[in-house]
Amino acid sequence: MKIFFIIIGVLILAITSFVAYRFVIVKLQSKELDAISHTHEHKEQKATTNTTTVASNCGNCGMKSLDFPQWNVKVIGKEKDSNSQKITYFCSPRCLFVQATTNQTTYQSADSLLVVDYYNQQRIEARQAFFVVGSDVASPMGNDFVPLADEAAAKDFLNEHKGKKIVKFGEVNQENLLKLLQ
Ligand SMILES: [Zn+2]
Repeated sequence: MKIFFIIIGVLILAITSFVAYRFVIVKLQSKELDAISHTHEHKEQKATTNTTTVASNCGNCGMKSLDFPQWNVKVIGKEKDSNSQKITYFCSPRCLFVQATTNQTTYQSADSLLVVDYYNQQRIEARQAFFVVGSDVASPMGNDFVPLADEAAAKDFLNEHKGKKIVKFGEVNQENLLKLLQ
């Protein structure tokens, strides 16, 4: 009789521990599934949320563009195949023109190409700016394209700083780039 009770006891113990074990496994599995569906949700959110990436080293020479606030160029565009905004920098207009003349389509279609007006230090759109070349003013890169907001200011600067020529963004190309920088 005693042995019968012991066997029953062991059986009950075995059954309850098996049930408890299954219960824990199922719980764990559902937690895992939960975690997977959550990460999925996050991924979907990322694709639809507008984010901005910033690359502040010069896109041409690699210098730290933010060290030259009077000269640097801020390019605002879109990341490929997404709505995310991408901000890239050049240390000076010269580095912008080196890249823009070899990869014109990218820069002509950028949302904003912002250079700094020499006189008032305000951001102006490079595709509307007037650039003076051959002047006695040097940028971090040496001879450079000095940006001015309008033609009158560009003429003043040319006279004041022994500039050689005034050019617009679209007039600079691979053929004349080096000559303009002399
Ligand atoms: Zn540079």
